[in-house]
This record gives sequence, C-alpha cells and structure tokens, in this order.
Amino acid sequence: MSREFLRTYHEYDIEEVKKHLLIWGDLTADCASCRALGLDGYTVKVCPQCSTSFKYITSRRSEEHSSERFQIVRRAKDKRPELIFIDYSDYTKTLGQKKARDFFA
Ligand SMILES: [Zn+2]
Repeated sequence: MSREFLRTYHEYDIEEVKKHLLIWGDLTADCASCRALGLDGYTVKVCPQCSTSFKYITSRRSEEHSSERFQIVRRAKDKRPELIFIDYSDYTKTLGQKKARDFFA
C-alpha cells in the first residue's frame, strides 16, 4: 500500500484558524495569533505569549520549496499528528481576501 498526501478541501473559519495556527519556519515556529517568534515547532502546545492552544499547523517553507511540500507535511504528520496541516498559500490568500472585504465593507 502506498500512502501519499493529496490536498483536499474543507470549510474553515479563517479567524478561528488564525487564532490557533502554528507557523513552522526553518528552525523555529511562530504563533499566527500574536506573532510570538522562536517557538519550538515540534513540542509547543500552547503559545507562551498569548496562551492560545495550537490546532492547526502550516509552513512557509512548503510554499517557497514546492518540491519539498509533502516532505514537510509528512514531518508535521509525524511530529504533530494532533494538528491539522493547512496549506500556507491558501491561508495567506484567504486572509488577504478577508482583510480586503473588511476594509471595503
Ligand atoms: Zn501567541
């Protein structure tokens, strides 16, 4: 049996995702909610700065190196199986569209 990653679509509340999103960088991770930097992406459960609990994970690197995308997803699945992996470009595009809508509303 060959287990591979395929992107699927699911409806999310973007504000809810932002509030509980851990962003993996090259060495450390950030909190999307309060922008706290330097978190340990492999172990952090709750943001030490704003106390939000992490439910989702994404990686900027998955966008910059699209060939590595699924390796990163696999690592996230391995190290943080309790978190839902969100595609970084989906997240930033949707957040940008929402900000534009809020601005013109
Ligand atoms: Zn935080």
